[in-house]
Amino acid sequence: MAQKGNIHTLIVGAGTSGLLIAQGLKKVAIFEAETSTAYQTRPRDLTPDATTGLPVYNGKTGELVVEMEAENPCRVSRKKLRILFMEGIDVRYGKEADGVALVEEGDEEGKVKLCFKDGTSAVGDVVVGADGARSRVRECVVGEEAARLTENPLCITSIHPDHGTVFWISIQDVPDPSDPSTWTFQLLMSWLNNPLPASANNHQGRMAFFKTRAEEWAEPWRSAGRWVKRDTRIPLDAGRYWERARKWDNRAGRMTLCSDAAHPMTPHRGQGLNNALQDSSHFVAAMVAAASGGKSLAEAVDAYDAEVLERGTLEMWISLKQTMFIHNWETLMASPMVKMGMHQARKEEGGGSCVDYRGGREGGI
Ligand SMILES: Cc1cc2nc3c(=O)[nH]c(=O)nc-3n(C[C@H](O)[C@H](O)[C@H](O)COP(=O)(O)OP(=O)(O)OC[C@H]3O[C@@H](n4cnc5c(N)ncnc54)[C@H](O)[C@@H]3O)c2cc1C
Repeated sequence: MAQKGNIHTLIVGAGTSGLLIAQGLKKVAIFEAETSTAYQTRPRDLTPDATTGLPVYNGKTGELVVEMEAENPCRVSRKKLRILFMEGIDVRYGKEADGVALVEEGDEEGKVKLCFKDGTSAVGDVVVGADGARSRVRECVVGEEAARLTENPLCITSIHPDHGTVFWISIQDVPDPSDPSTWTFQLLMSWLNNPLPASANNHQGRMAFFKTRAEEWAEPWRSAGRWVKRDTRIPLDAGRYWERARKWDNRAGRMTLCSDAAHPMTPHRGQGLNNALQDSSHFVAAMVAAASGGKSLAEAVDAYDAEVLERGTLEMWISLKQTMFIHNWETLMASPMVKMGMHQARKEEGGGSCVDYRGGREGGI
């Protein structure tokens, strides 16, 4: 969809949402903090296709606990998705955004200026922060304190009844369907309130810890753990969400946020990407409405912000509840995963005990 008017959009972050916005609007500049090499070789990824629901097993016995309901769930490779979304887009690599401010005087008064760590800057009509969960743009828009994320006490994802650790396995890539030795898998181990032992602060220690834990699992998780090569890098992530999320001042439509920058969420309901796609499409529609004169920039961005904030924070709280409930055998069957499967959260599903999770950790967590 081409932009009809003269709104020059500066996009911070060439992830899923940033690239999609760039595809949807013609007059943009897209800035990515990573160098082109680091960006292309980034090891993190999402995962492949399942055509039915997602089964959850008892990690200790291997018994099926529940089949999470889902309509045509699809796991995708983040790398392949990015390559697809990048077609025809000129990403400016090595441009780490560090500041955003309104231009207060001169020819460009009223516009917005984006400053980079390398000392350069760019001026445009609107800045959209698509720079992920730890968004620098969010800090600039709402201030560092208000932008701060809350770390779910979660470390690195079948569910083990003895300690509630989740061990997730999914297929990442299948270059040759007839030869499983060419397939790539994603393993994710996660737990709550259970800090890693000091020995797991380095690569070797973390691998030893992972291997020891995997031995407690039934097949096929145990073998999957054994097959991980010792030199594989195991990244350590805390589950993060924006507890302080609230309406941000978009400076009359000049600055806004998209996707993880607007609603970082824990990954256990797999809804981050869906919301990234929706946000990007809505942002493009907002810019088109403003460019065509159907709405003022301020009105278009206000409406965009309000919808993103409501939908995104609803999903953020439901995902957090999911994260909390599935890491405890006693609460597993009450988790959103079991009750509502993987469909997009509806407003009426966001109330009650889900909202109680806002910082309060009710339920003893
Ligand atoms: C372990 C894990 C598993 C997940 N599993 C799923 C799943 O199963 N299903 C699902 O839907 N979602 C999942 N997600 C979430 C999903 O990956 C994200 O929601 C989605 O990728 C967000 O897209 P984005 O464009 O907001 O951010 P990203 O794709 O993270 O892109 C942000 C980009 O901004 C760049 N950047 C950061 N700071 C700056 C700066 N200051 N200046 C310039 N550039 C900057 C980064 O380098 C990056 O390229 C998972 C996430 C994790 C961590």
